[in-house]
Amino acid sequence: MIYNFYAGPSIIDADVLARGANNILHRDDLLSIIEISHRSKRFGDLMEELTDTARRLMDLHDDFEILFLHGGGRMQFMQIPYNLSEVFQTNYYADSGSWTHYALKESTFFGGTKAICSSREEGYKHIATWDEEPEDAAYIYLCTNNTIYGTQYWHIPETKAPLIADMSSDLFGRSLDFNQFDLFYAATQKNAGTAGASIVCIKPEILKKKPGSIPAMMDYRTHINAKSLYNTPPVFANVMSLYVMQWIEQQGGIDYFDRLNHEKAELLYEELDRNALFTPYANKKDRSIMNVVFTAVDKKIEQRFKDTLDNNGFVGLNGHRSIGGFRASMYNALPKSHVEALVSCMQEFERKA
Ligand code: PMP
Repeated sequence: MIYNFYAGPSIIDADVLARGANNILHRDDLLSIIEISHRSKRFGDLMEELTDTARRLMDLHDDFEILFLHGGGRMQFMQIPYNLSEVFQTNYYADSGSWTHYALKESTFFGGTKAICSSREEGYKHIATWDEEPEDAAYIYLCTNNTIYGTQYWHIPETKAPLIADMSSDLFGRSLDFNQFDLFYAATQKNAGTAGASIVCIKPEILKKKPGSIPAMMDYRTHINAKSLYNTPPVFANVMSLYVMQWIEQQGGIDYFDRLNHEKAELLYEELDRNALFTPYANKKDRSIMNVVFTAVDKKIEQRFKDTLDNNGFVGLNGHRSIGGFRASMYNALPKSHVEALVSCMQEFERKA
């Protein structure tokens, strides 16, 4: 038995994987979906179904456009300020972890950029907030779930300026009113398919650059007009995103996974709060249900528990290289029984310690 707790790329449901595998094989009477033109009706229909399924899942209103783009999450770190920065305005970032910090740095290539708040000095153990919104904001950017530090927004701030969110590690894993944002996106590698692509949802009214003033490939309007088929899309990633989203819908939609993911997280946090050998990293009120980060009481225990995990089929539980310790990523496809197995392993470890 292998228990897959990787942070991303990460666990995909076995039936979804089998469906993907079957569909890249061609038959005598039907070519594989990844060996036909992206301009074919068959692929065009698939993209339409992908977009419709995403819209249904999120209950997203018609004033949003949904795009499937190349480049994963980090491409958006650049594409957002490329499209949205304005002369005499400032791009504001709520700095809640390494991913917002990287995004903020990329923004400096395109315009004035500032952190509107930051928890960096406190090791990103909590979500920082701000009191007053600056008048000169081109937009305010936050990351709803901080994959590395295991914190998550449980209250989304209201803003006057366009509100932008990186949801790479919690999109489809929690219930949320998606319509309160102006642009949000996720790398598809966690709850939305495979790596290398992204889903980007935008209200086009925020796109105000003079047409032709930024490179076509970077301009969101190019991709809106071409329905995500401006150039050849990452076809296999798109196919897998469709299968993952259809599976989410069949299981009961985002609300079903919201409940399941809360149950899984509660199980593990309860054990971490009880077991004296381990300490959860994030402050209680901002704890993430997707990525649970924790440390061991000392280095010796840490190494011994790492060995125990290795010997019992647990993979992907090493903390991010920047903070060490442990991280249990528990995306939609991770069954509750795998979290129960991890909790039992911790209890057994404690008994033998
Ligand atoms: N944002 C967040 C919150 C992430 O967790 C990640 C990847 N783990 C990224 C952005 C970057 O995604 P990618 O590697 O696809 O560029």
